[in-house]
Amino acid sequence: MVNFTINLYHHGFFVGNPLHYMDGDLRVVHNVNFEGVIYSEFCHNLRKLVVMAPVSYYYVKSGVPMNLGLKPLKTDEDLEAFKKAAQENNSKIDIYCEHSGYNVLEMLKNDNLVNEEDEQDFSDNENQDTLDDVKDLVDFQTEDDSDVVIPKITTNDPWLNKLVGLGKFIGHMDDPIPPLNGRFMVEIDDPEEDEIDTQYKVKKGVQYPAFDPETPWNSCKPILGLRFESPAQLKQCLANYGVTHGYQLWYLQNDSHKLLVLCARDVSEGRCAGKRGKKDNESATCSTKGQGSKDCKGESSKISKATKERWDKKKEEEKKNVANQKDCKFRLWASWMSTERSFQIKTLYADHKCSRNYNLGSLVTYKWIAHHYAREIIDNPWLTYRYMQNSIREKFKIDVSLGQCKRAKQVALFDHEGGLVDHYSRL
Ligand SMILES: [Zn+2]
Repeated sequence: MVNFTINLYHHGFFVGNPLHYMDGDLRVVHNVNFEGVIYSEFCHNLRKLVVMAPVSYYYVKSGVPMNLGLKPLKTDEDLEAFKKAAQENNSKIDIYCEHSGYNVLEMLKNDNLVNEEDEQDFSDNENQDTLDDVKDLVDFQTEDDSDVVIPKITTNDPWLNKLVGLGKFIGHMDDPIPPLNGRFMVEIDDPEEDEIDTQYKVKKGVQYPAFDPETPWNSCKPILGLRFESPAQLKQCLANYGVTHGYQLWYLQNDSHKLLVLCARDVSEGRCAGKRGKKDNESATCSTKGQGSKDCKGESSKISKATKERWDKKKEEEKKNVANQKDCKFRLWASWMSTERSFQIKTLYADHKCSRNYNLGSLVTYKWIAHHYAREIIDNPWLTYRYMQNSIREKFKIDVSLGQCKRAKQVALFDHEGGLVDHYSRL
């Protein structure tokens, strides 16, 4: 006589692409004896274990991805197959309760159909992401990456093109970390250069240390003058720093040339300070977007009045935002060095006045999660989102959504296949 262990997933729902069970609870039932049990009895017993009545049951061998191994549990024959599967799986099996009446097998069929298209989308994104990749690696502002609107200053920006014309800078970057090839990187000065006390600014001619990628995640912190390989590396470091100390950091400026980071933890207003800043920033972006594209079509050769207005307006917005950061003075400015291919922290007020905030799910993105879990995901592609979520809660003391875990897993596996595994697992 064999006693089985059932992982009973319930009170959740199935979602596709790839098929998984969302927002469910898990009840582990030990010492289950199926001997002589018929389907109706089996259902009756399961029903007693969950509060909300399931419409139907499905099972999958523990550790097998759902979209590959999900089977219905609707008849006596299904039950026999189920018992056999459990036996072959060291007497352990996962059962999923379906509460809504969906035909999950139909979802599975659709799942497989759209998979190809999905991957296509994904690779398309990756391609166009060469620059974006840098900036959305870690973003502090919102939970949903799709509504992060960040001003883009790329090849077609008339303002940068103008600078290129002067022969001092390059504005063209095919790769976020292009080889220098004797050219200089865009070195952009801190917009508040003149107002910052010299002790918070890098000194010319001083050789500052380079960030050590082997730094343990909870020892990462920004240091004046520290040099990074790329904005992405700095942002990863800052996300780790924010998570370690519970700082609600956010980017006021964020692109492949420069980074302006503030601490938005306003004690009296919670996260509102950050939100307010972001909103202002966003509306500025929206209102300038139209003008920007008009400029590109019409008069890309010279700085138009609209562009100048746009920059003046942006500066005003930024000043206003900075002035709003009353409670915490943390401020970091980083940009490329002109003398070498390093992205450097050029000015830094490192002191915080804020206190730890545990509710920081929005502080990290799925890419940050991918960084931290790449090794584990690649070693075990069946790692569940729930496991990742719990593990992140335990290890980093932050709550992230299952959706973030899902994206992270996709990114880690995708990049693994794309040969970028070293990039992620290095951390
Ligand atoms: Zn702070």
